[in-house]
Amino acid sequence: MEIAFSRLDERVAKFTISGISTSFANMLRRAMISEVPTLAIEDVRIYDNTSVLFDEMLTHRLGLIPLRTDLKRYAPRAECTCEGVGCPVCTATYTLSVEGPKMVYSSDLIPQDPDAAPAEEKIPIISLGQEQKVVLEAYAIVSTGKEHAKWQATTACGYKNYPQITIDERCDGCGMCVDECPRNVLETGQGKVRVIGGRQEFCSLCRLCERACVAGGIGTEAAIHIGVDANRFIFVVEGDGSMPVREIIERALQYIQKSSDDLVDVMNDITGEGTE
Ligand code: SF4
Ligand code: SF4
Ligand SMILES: [Zn+2]
Repeated sequence: MEIAFSRLDERVAKFTISGISTSFANMLRRAMISEVPTLAIEDVRIYDNTSVLFDEMLTHRLGLIPLRTDLKRYAPRAECTCEGVGCPVCTATYTLSVEGPKMVYSSDLIPQDPDAAPAEEKIPIISLGQEQKVVLEAYAIVSTGKEHAKWQATTACGYKNYPQITIDERCDGCGMCVDECPRNVLETGQGKVRVIGGRQEFCSLCRLCERACVAGGIGTEAAIHIGVDANRFIFVVEGDGSMPVREIIERALQYIQKSSDDLVDVMNDITGEGTE
C-alpha cells in the first residue's frame, strides 16, 4: 500500500492510496464519516425563548453547530465514571443569553471550556426581533456519526478510482478532445495529444474527449481511451473544523485497526489459539 498526499491542511486533505481494493477504500470512507467521535450539543435547558422558533427547532440548530473537540479531554458518556449523569469529563457546557434585535451567531454561544468553542464564529442560529429573548444552557457530549449526523467530523468525504488515460497511434493531434475537456487535462504537442503533467488526477472520467474524437471522424472507436486503475483511489476529505483533518484520518485508521484486532481476538477465542 502506498499513500501520497497532494494536499493536507487544517480542513482539507487530498491523497491517493494505491494497492487497495474498493472494499478497503469504502471501509476507510465510512470509518471517517461515521466512526470518528466529536462533540455535539445533546441536551438544552431553556430558561426563556420568546423568538419565532419553537424550542425544538432552536435546539436542533444548536445541535448542528460543529464544536472543537479534544478527544484526550472528553470521554464518551457511556464510558465515564459518572455513569451517564454528566460531569466535566464527558460534558461540555455552554450558555446563550441574547436579546433582539440582532442576528444570533455561534460566537454568542459561550463555552465553559474555551477549547470546546464552536468551530466557526459566524454560523447563524436565529434572527431576533425587538424585545425577543433567548436564554439557555446547552450540554455537548461525545458520540459518532453512526448515531446522528451532528456527530460527523466530515462535511465531505469521498473517493474515486484513479483515472487512466491512453492515446493510441491513430491520434493525429487535431486537438478536438483538448477543446472538449472541462478539466483542462489534455494538451497537444508533436502532432499528438498528451496529458498535461500533474493533471491526470483531475480527470472526472466524463469521456467527453472520447466522444469528441469519434465526432471528429476518426472512426467508430476513439484514439483516446479513458479507464480506471481498479486498485488506486483518490480521496478528498473535508473536516467540519471540530478537529484537524489529519486527526480524522488517523482516528478512522485506528478504528479499522482496532476492529480488525477485536475480530482476531474473537477468532482466537473460538479456535482456542493464542491462549496458554
Ligand atoms: S474524461 Fe473528461 S475530464 Fe477526463 S480527459 Fe476526457 S474530457 Fe477530460
Ligand atoms: S480528438 Fe482524437 S485524434 Fe484528435 S487529438 Fe484528441 S485523441 Fe487525437
Ligand atoms: Zn461524566
